[in-house]
Amino acid sequence: YYNENTIVFFNGEFVKATDAKANVYDQSLHYGYAVFEGIRSYNTQNGTRIFKAKEHYDRLQFSAESIGIPYPYNNDELTEISYEVLKRNNFTDAYLRPLITCPPNMQLTKGKDAQILIAAWEWGAYLGEKLLRLSTSSYRRITPACFRVEAKVSGHYINSIMASQEAKDKGFDEALLLDVEGFVAEGPGANIFFEKDGVLHTPQLGSILPGITRATVLEICEGLGIEVVERQIKPEEVRGVDSAFMCGTAAEVIGIESLDGVAFAKPWKESLGAIIQKAYKNVVLEKEYRTVAQVA
Ligand code: PMP
Repeated sequence: YYNENTIVFFNGEFVKATDAKANVYDQSLHYGYAVFEGIRSYNTQNGTRIFKAKEHYDRLQFSAESIGIPYPYNNDELTEISYEVLKRNNFTDAYLRPLITCPPNMQLTKGKDAQILIAAWEWGAYLGEKLLRLSTSSYRRITPACFRVEAKVSGHYINSIMASQEAKDKGFDEALLLDVEGFVAEGPGANIFFEKDGVLHTPQLGSILPGITRATVLEICEGLGIEVVERQIKPEEVRGVDSAFMCGTAAEVIGIESLDGVAFAKPWKESLGAIIQKAYKNVVLEKEYRTVAQVA
């Protein structure tokens, strides 16, 4: 992710990643009490553009505020700083990782101060380009009864790590987690959509991270006249769907080949997901399209 020369923004300064030092008593390190974002920049026809920077920094602020971490930042300034991090590293297509941590404090009390890191690296599609073979996880997604699930909190990702590693250990590419009530929730780092009879279905908000890519997919569908239903989805319904895809900033839009070894009936190329995958590329690259036929 970085070499000796990668520049990051850390507590008000641009420094080499290797010179940015955390404290071993940082509250965040001990308790997973930190918030972060994952953002992509693209080399568009209008130059290097950070996709939905405002939405990501607004979510970072929401995440911090929802767990009591101070947020003494201005989101427009953080966006400017993010462009500067890209520039200092000569990056165009990159992944940005803002992280807010809390300084030394061994108490289980809310954060007294905040420290910010904005790192960047060049990262290909996080889940690869190949269709995914998913496995239903034995781990349930974190529940709103225990966590602020809509906040992107570092500690929440232990659940994601457990699920993702379990899927890989079983020979699959990625996990699909159910919520505690047994409805389909999401992947460890991406949201999920299913296609059935020309309509898309996706889990409603409640037990999932409200993905910015998920919101972009909903906008794309609105523009293209593709119907989407947000609702509770039972795992047994998924067996009868025509196709499926996952979406997230790092993963972008990626097709799913099978769930628990059972393949979806529709070839990916003919699926609604394939149209949305192309439309998503157009959106992030700031290319115009209006109809399905124009999605190049
Ligand atoms: N769900 C989880 C658990 C995630 O970690 C992510 C990645 N941030 C997503 C969904 C997708 O969110 P986004 O589209 O905002 O990247």
